[in-house]
Amino acid sequence: MNRAAGPPFLETDFVTLSGGNVKISGTELREASQSMKGSLFFPGSQEYESSVRIWNGMFQKKPAAIAYCKETADVAKAVKLARRHGLLTSVRSGGHHVAGNSLCDGGLTIDLTYMNKVSVNQEKMSVKAQGGALLEDVDRLTQLYGLATPFGVVSKTGIAGLTLGGGYGHLRRKYGLTIDNLLSVELVKADGSVTHADETQNQDLLWAVKGGGGNFGIVTEFEYKLHSVGPMLYQVYTAYPLSEGIGVLKRGRKFLADEVSDDVSAEFQLAKIPDTRFYPMEMRGERVVVMRAVHAGPVKKGKEEMEFLRHLGTSLYDSSGPRSYVDIQTYTDNTVPNGIRYYSTGIMVQELKDELLELMVEEYSKVDLDEVGVTGIWHTGGAISRVESSETAYAARDNQYMIVIDLGWSGKENDRQQIGWGRGLKKKIRDLYPEKEETGYINFQPGDNDKLEISAAYGKNSGRLSEIKRKYDPDNFFRVNHNIKP
Ligand SMILES: Cc1cc2nc3c(=O)[nH]c(=O)nc-3n(C[C@H](O)[C@H](O)[C@H](O)COP(=O)(O)OP(=O)(O)OC[C@H]3O[C@@H](n4cnc5c(N)ncnc54)[C@H](O)[C@@H]3O)c2cc1C
Repeated sequence: MNRAAGPPFLETDFVTLSGGNVKISGTELREASQSMKGSLFFPGSQEYESSVRIWNGMFQKKPAAIAYCKETADVAKAVKLARRHGLLTSVRSGGHHVAGNSLCDGGLTIDLTYMNKVSVNQEKMSVKAQGGALLEDVDRLTQLYGLATPFGVVSKTGIAGLTLGGGYGHLRRKYGLTIDNLLSVELVKADGSVTHADETQNQDLLWAVKGGGGNFGIVTEFEYKLHSVGPMLYQVYTAYPLSEGIGVLKRGRKFLADEVSDDVSAEFQLAKIPDTRFYPMEMRGERVVVMRAVHAGPVKKGKEEMEFLRHLGTSLYDSSGPRSYVDIQTYTDNTVPNGIRYYSTGIMVQELKDELLELMVEEYSKVDLDEVGVTGIWHTGGAISRVESSETAYAARDNQYMIVIDLGWSGKENDRQQIGWGRGLKKKIRDLYPEKEETGYINFQPGDNDKLEISAAYGKNSGRLSEIKRKYDPDNFFRVNHNIKP
């Protein structure tokens, strides 16, 4: 970033928290920018344009300025600038949340993309990573030591959003959610001051960031517990024809319910595979049920324990085998390209009822989805359910399955059909579980969700979260998120 070569700083209009407008002089903006190790960027600059290109192409928001931060002090300065003028402010780390809340129209976006340093402490079995790191930044380094902390399943996702929501991945049943391995955070508060939270100081804050999203401040550094993982693990990835779907799902369900150990984190995926190069020829155009499972222990044990999952029906495609953990973490990255239009939504259930399996197979037999159209049924439980719901802000722990509907397509004209189908499917699933109180997961909640769904995600911890919000952000400065009101 060469500040001297950039355009002059002009007086700029910003949208405020109350929805009004405020002008900030070019002089003040220049001084603010020059006081940072990073810089402020404005529309038209390369840095600005790359920051506003986020994963979900549905969102074309245009902040008035982007504060590209290179260190914690930059984040603090950006927050102080925003507070001084009451600016609407969003926080962007990996830019992968489906709701597009990392950007805000007309306000200030605080971007942590350049803050991605990672360091391993082998003795303490822990890793520290700056808030803008992606999963791959951490996984690649920790694996050099044969270690890992549980993250999500697509390596380009930001650790910040993933962690602050909870963090489900391939090690979930063995080592829990990402937040179950979070030891401490460094955080810039709503007044621009910097604080730490760990098990000895600001415990309430540490509790709140374990699932309460970006409501309490900007996390500039995360510290996680590490486990010995890999470097080689056994992965099952077997596709079965949808025509055999009911049998495949029922056999898989029984195995997961009765036999499988917590070493195995498994997922069914229902899909009509698009005709794109990201998928093997054998799968393209097929309607399938894929069984994907990862064993967290030695390869030999993984192969033995999971062999059954490769024989749930007639295999159409099978790439199961030993793989490096880094390979597993990046295995499906290319199936969710940046910048097309996306809609994701999820629902948690205790058991896979026959009616659910029938519904899923029927829906996928008739639907004609576009580039991405996958419903994942993730087996959860295990270590996740051994933590009490009150121990972390994330409350939805006593479920055994998380159903995630992921849709991706091109063309605004297809929005209605795609989103309508996703919402409709979710409603049909919910109707099959009338006895169940709604619980959710903010990381898979779209921007269109109503207040009810947000409070369902925070569940029985909503009250305590509001109290902590009142303490750390009484003015609700951090509001461009799945918001908790003070
Ligand atoms: C392709 C793909 C795969 C995914 N796979 C998984 C998965 O396997 N498991 C899983 O659990 N989830 C998964 N998710 C969901 C993912 O966890 C969320 O989208 C997550 O919020 C992304 O984090 P981010 O930093 O990239 O997002 P961003 O969009 O940058 O941030 C999301 C929100 O978090 C807040 N925020 C961001 N950075 C900070 C910060 N430093 N401090 C405070 N608040 C901040 C802001 O409110 C922001 O709006 C996936 C998402 C995608 C797109």
